[in-house]
Amino acid sequence: MKPAPFEFARPASLAEALEVLAANPDAKVLAGGQSLVPLLSMRLASPRMVVDINGISELAYVRSDDDGVHVGALARHADVESDADACRTQPLLCIALRQVAHQTVRNRGTTVGSIVHADAAAEMPAVLSLLGGRVTAVSSSGSRDVAAADLYVGPMESALRHDEIAVEAFFPAIAEQSGVAFDEVSRRRGDYALCGVAALVQLSGAQVVSVRAGYLAVCEVPTVVDLTAGVPDGSLAGRNLDDAADLALAALDPVTDIHATAAYRRQLVRALTRRVVAAAHQHGLARAGEGAR
Ligand code: FAD
Repeated sequence: MKPAPFEFARPASLAEALEVLAANPDAKVLAGGQSLVPLLSMRLASPRMVVDINGISELAYVRSDDDGVHVGALARHADVESDADACRTQPLLCIALRQVAHQTVRNRGTTVGSIVHADAAAEMPAVLSLLGGRVTAVSSSGSRDVAAADLYVGPMESALRHDEIAVEAFFPAIAEQSGVAFDEVSRRRGDYALCGVAALVQLSGAQVVSVRAGYLAVCEVPTVVDLTAGVPDGSLAGRNLDDAADLALAALDPVTDIHATAAYRRQLVRALTRRVVAAAHQHGLARAGEGAR
């Protein structure tokens, strides 16, 4: 099948792109095209206008500072995962990016595009949500920051307006005395996950003071669950990992779709929560050990 006819614009500046979007309510931004082009080809999307932002080179950056990692709208997944500063500043970003599709898709697909595409089965929305990151959106009438907690309003639906371009995603840096981990189950390497979990464990010395996990491919939107109540004594020994997984299951309402049943997803949530929280804990302890040396 071929896409329905559409007009095409390739602006050379952000101002020009915003002008085109403001004048065309039925326009779609084209970044890496790894999601939009298949949607066009299958006629699941038929915009009147496609606005290709690949000529706006100022949006192609990955910058890290003490606060976190700033990813511009034209940074490809591959640019981010190969950026040593970004991976040091927020390791979870890079660990999870390596699970996004195959290298060829990551060479072209953008991290910001993945975040605003708002697929609940994608890694980056869950990671941004868990870390409490944000997206900066600009339109011809100004700029605003949208917190990840406010970004995902429904299945495949973000809070971005049609006239806005997401120019940057911001991932907060990993905090002192904390650890992160990520894992997912998919049918084949590179496929979308059937269930994925990202975890963030905060320590105080050897004590666990908070545990949070972000879930992808489980509910209709990426979902973050606070699991701290599962570790009341600050340790992950005994039944505490099971209790944390029970808390996750109580908070989540897994979907059934053509890829997996809700019952199977519940099993994956249980197994992956245990595994990923334990790994994040180990990562936190290892970082504390390195800091002490
Ligand atoms: P595009 O396809 O260009 O755009 C996607 C949507 O976002 C469109 O609606 C577009 O209008 C909008 N958009 C993009 N950028 C902006 C912007 N800056 N401002 C406003 N709107 C914008 N992803 C995963 O997370 N995990 C996977 O396992 C995975 N597997 C894949 C396997 C295959 C075979 C393919 C082809 C893709 C896969 N993807 C996967 C998707 C991939 O990560 C895409 O890169 C990503 O979803 C979208 O990024 P993009 O730059 O290609 O966006």
